[in-house]
Amino acid sequence: MSTISKIEKFRVPPRWLFVRVETSDGIVGWGESTLEGHTEAVEGAIQDLTERFIGADPSNIEDIWQTAYMGRFYRGGPVLMSALSGLDIALWDIKGKKLGVPVWQLLGGKLRDRVKVYGWIGGDNPSDVVAAALERKEQGFTAVKMNGTDAASWIDSPDILRGTVDRVKQVRQIGMDVGVDFHGRLHKGMAKQLARLLEQCQPLFIEEPLLPTQPEEIADLSNAVSTPIALGERLYTRHDFRPYLERRAIDIAQPDVAHCGGISELQRIASLTATYDVALAPHCPIGPIALAACMQVATSAPNFTIQEMSWGIHYNRTSDQDPLGNADLHTYMANPEVFTVKNGHLEILTQPGIGIEINEDRVRQAAKYCLENMSPWRNPLWRGDDGSLREW
Ligand SMILES: [Mg+2]
Repeated sequence: MSTISKIEKFRVPPRWLFVRVETSDGIVGWGESTLEGHTEAVEGAIQDLTERFIGADPSNIEDIWQTAYMGRFYRGGPVLMSALSGLDIALWDIKGKKLGVPVWQLLGGKLRDRVKVYGWIGGDNPSDVVAAALERKEQGFTAVKMNGTDAASWIDSPDILRGTVDRVKQVRQIGMDVGVDFHGRLHKGMAKQLARLLEQCQPLFIEEPLLPTQPEEIADLSNAVSTPIALGERLYTRHDFRPYLERRAIDIAQPDVAHCGGISELQRIASLTATYDVALAPHCPIGPIALAACMQVATSAPNFTIQEMSWGIHYNRTSDQDPLGNADLHTYMANPEVFTVKNGHLEILTQPGIGIEINEDRVRQAAKYCLENMSPWRNPLWRGDDGSLREW
């Protein structure tokens, strides 16, 4: 019997955490456990999984998933689920490689030939969005996402909302679709104004219009505007999605494959959300392994609609610290050409496993440098004019 013989983790620039699983018969699978800003906590959780699953049969993905989820009494949440996500993705990669098929063949086969994608523009403080959108257009994108606002207080000046509408209009005028990420920055009194004002621009969706602690209030907002409501990057497992579905609060589910429980749980969330007529748009502002994992479900899920990808995202600019100079989506890949955007789409991945080849030497070199020279990535902490905390 083949067994899991080694589980390694690699913290690499710009802010990613990769997992490498090796089997006794020499197959290597890659996963991603990136939890932006909480790397050390996830590394600890991966250490626990390593102790538990060395010697296990890698083909028993469901048993390993359930044991990891149920086995230590406490379950769910970002840290434990991100660690499990990385292991799960690596196990699917191994299974596909062993059987000589892409993972989507094991999820029921393909029902599309290419996958619609969107990129990011605008950074945290949106300015000059047109230049950024044109850059994405040049890369092949037809859709982008941008942040709605800067920091805001609970009830802020309506003036901050007018700028958002102008920026979205500008990008729409060059012929691109736009998703607007509220990032949970606004509270109800501001979010409902902005959602109404944006209707005239017909965004693809508005994302996290409120914090994911507010399913009832998001349901109210969803009833008040015609724009599709998207949410899910801060939800873990089907159980966290349930209140949003039961309250008819969302139109688009955005589970992040590196946080929600890997390919196994992303596939289950896809099925669950489809029964509520909710579309699937996997969240993925992170690394290439997570994107490859999302692509497997995107290829086979009937309610899949659009895939986020991080090529050129502002978070990838770490050249001040990073010897690789702006490690980006393609940096650690031996077959970067599979992530070429054309007419707004990626072709589906056809190689066995999750469909990408990792440049292992580069990963090891970057991880060594990262550990010795770089501090883990942290999100900024924002305060308003009065000195009090703001949501980032
Ligand atoms: Mg978001």
